[in-house]
Amino acid sequence: MLGLWLWAGATGQIAEAKLRAGASAVPITPFGQNPDWKGPVQPSGLWGDEKNRIWMAGFGMNRPAEGRHDDLWARAIVLDADDTRVALVSLDLIGYYQNAGFYGVDQALKLLRPALKLDAVIVSSTHNHEGPDTIGLWGPALGQDGKYADYLRFVDRQIARAVNEAVERLVEVRARFGKSRPPALRALQVRTGYRPPNFFDDELRVLQLTVQWGKQKGNVLATLVNWNTHPESMESANRILTSDFPHFIREAIEKKYGGTAVYFSGALGAAEIIGDAPLPKGDFEQIGSRRFPLHPKTRRPPVSFERTQAIGETVAQAAFEALDNGEDVPIDLLRVRSYAITSPVTNPNYLAMMKAGVLSAAGDSIATTLYYLSLISKQSGGGLRAAAEFLTLPGEVFPELIYGVENFRRTDCPQAHTGRPYEPAIWPLLKADYRFILGMAPDEYGYVVPQYDFVPLPPRPFPVGQQAPDACAAMGVPAHYHETNSVSYEMAPAVTCGIVRLLGGSISSFPACANFKAASEK
Ligand SMILES: [Zn+2]
Repeated sequence: MLGLWLWAGATGQIAEAKLRAGASAVPITPFGQNPDWKGPVQPSGLWGDEKNRIWMAGFGMNRPAEGRHDDLWARAIVLDADDTRVALVSLDLIGYYQNAGFYGVDQALKLLRPALKLDAVIVSSTHNHEGPDTIGLWGPALGQDGKYADYLRFVDRQIARAVNEAVERLVEVRARFGKSRPPALRALQVRTGYRPPNFFDDELRVLQLTVQWGKQKGNVLATLVNWNTHPESMESANRILTSDFPHFIREAIEKKYGGTAVYFSGALGAAEIIGDAPLPKGDFEQIGSRRFPLHPKTRRPPVSFERTQAIGETVAQAAFEALDNGEDVPIDLLRVRSYAITSPVTNPNYLAMMKAGVLSAAGDSIATTLYYLSLISKQSGGGLRAAAEFLTLPGEVFPELIYGVENFRRTDCPQAHTGRPYEPAIWPLLKADYRFILGMAPDEYGYVVPQYDFVPLPPRPFPVGQQAPDACAAMGVPAHYHETNSVSYEMAPAVTCGIVRLLGGSISSFPACANFKAASEK
């Protein structure tokens, strides 16, 4: 029987599970020679000229790039089974958009070969804080656009190139899934300024795809890693382009397994990397098995690529453990769905930036799309079971919105409660053992903050250029920074109620969804 099975496999006549996958990694670093870049290259290697500079995104304005440590990438994995074909793309950028006018995923889609027949192209950003400004907020001064238009058109072309290449390379694969949440990984996450609650999505998920047949049989084609915190360990003074700790995660993964490593950030709202907030006690910061001394005054570690490497290797170690304890699951079918949502823009800072032409989105509302992808196994009795699910989030969603605000809300300060109802929990609505969350996809609309803790809610005025104080500021709770980088208090119900609908659920029992209106239901 075994011999027959092998024979059938060798001739490709098995009618069993036929998951196929392809992967590609295309550099998008605005530095050095690149055959697809026709614009100016300075003697330093950086792209641009006096008019167009590479401004680094994510911290303060006026941070010009001065060099490159490692490449930024557009990395794609295409999955194909039973007439459904989906591309998952990760960009080492602060964020990107589906449609930002002259650039965005819609422009990349025009460059895909029509014969590829993709049902969905899902593009997510890692939210890298050590790469170029792709949004416009980090130019030389307030109100001055930090985007380099020709570079963004180049990024669109490279997204298309990565997807085209990944489809060309489709081969039959087997899928292995893993997840882990070791204490060493959890120790790397910190809430911005210790903003309560002290809650994180502390689970790391992995999907590894291994070639099934032929000369490459047994070789790892790709390893997808999904974890949840801000890639900003090189901090605000760095001017050397890098993809931050995801670079070192991918390097360690590829060294161990071969193939292409692809990293996706998940629900990282308010979740920062260790060292971003002063450590309350001790002389050193522990990263995996390594210790980095703290500055006695700032209580923060010195920033270095060595430390960033230690962070990346600690995350990679968690991925190794996840795979060691993981399971191979035959995938027979893919299902992908999408759901359009809108939200008003109520942040006066954003409205002013739109008016100034700095932010590409315009008008008093934004639209975006939520995606749900399931990888399904046929059961022996004929039933179907989702082995893994992928869900996208259009920005930096607070993790408690995924796991459920009601159970994971702050309880330190009852008087801070705005009185708004809790948004529906998403995690219990998912069914599979392996649940991947892709943040900043396809859009980066900033923080998505639960309404019960969103300050200031109307009719309280939004303090322009300032962070609203917390009701428990006297107890040391920080001012509400995230709201200043949020489209609206209405984003949290728009995203969570939209996901309930995307997953086929009813929103009528959720008071937080009373005003919800899907874009497609208008
Ligand atoms: Zn952020």
